[in-house]
Amino acid sequence: MIPGLVRRLEGKVALITGGASGIGECTARLLHRHGAKVVIADVQEHLARTICDDLGRPSDDCSFVHCDVTNESHVRDAVDEAVSRFGKLDIMFNNAGILGPVKQSILENGKSDFEKVLRVNATGVFLGIKHAARVMVPARRGSIVNTASVCAVLSGLGPHAYTCSKHAIIGLTKNAAVELGKFGVRVNCVSPYLIKTRMTEEFFPEGAPSGPTVHSNLKGFEVELEDVAEAVAYLGGDESKFVSGINLIVDGGFSNV
Ligand code: NAD
Repeated sequence: MIPGLVRRLEGKVALITGGASGIGECTARLLHRHGAKVVIADVQEHLARTICDDLGRPSDDCSFVHCDVTNESHVRDAVDEAVSRFGKLDIMFNNAGILGPVKQSILENGKSDFEKVLRVNATGVFLGIKHAARVMVPARRGSIVNTASVCAVLSGLGPHAYTCSKHAIIGLTKNAAVELGKFGVRVNCVSPYLIKTRMTEEFFPEGAPSGPTVHSNLKGFEVELEDVAEAVAYLGGDESKFVSGINLIVDGGFSNV
């Protein structure tokens, strides 16, 4: 956490899909340190419960809900869990995602693999926005943050389906921001550069750096999970109250080079 920026999400309630690992886990921990109550929605129950046990003591301000983001009733129940347990939903972080097969030519890409990636990464985000809006619109406030990727703005970096799904997130983010802005609900996305997580393990050859930091473009800095989490905290919180429809790229300027 950046020194001086303390508990700036006090009293907020956040729901994080894909919160059991990687960027989602780091964000759950950071939002909690900033004072938010957190609901982790994921398919990896054991990992999520461990995080929740860690965060939920002693004040019981973390909850886990089993949620496959491709299943609409799971997403609806996850949103309802946040509202019933903590009284409201302020921040929806639609972050669950998969990479799909890597290093495959489009000539080899299977249709079912392609569709699976789109179901999790694009349809899952659509369902998250839809059900968050269901409770945020009547409340006349809320912040939805979606995880896109530098693959949403750069070509040739990620697999075809992944790149396609992440481009879709930017379009959906902007469209939803236009519609939901009338009701005081903001919609933005973050686009991280490559960070070593479970999802990206295949990208790294043997002997790759073991920590979460891998790439550097800004001299003297390397991307860390917390850089993405801090961007989500900013977009989720009131400091960004007039920011909607943007893609906040967290890549040290890489996509400009
Ligand atoms: P990760 O594998 O560590 O975390 C992904 C989480 O999503 C896991 O906990 C997993 O269980 C969950 N998940 C997967 N499918 C799900 C489903 N159907 N329903 C619910 N949960 C599901 O990977 P990560 O790198 O932290 O990825 C998080 C997000 O960040 C993804 O959307 C990914 O595309 C995006 N992203 C990652 C990178 C990177 O380099 N790591 C870069 C840009 C964007």
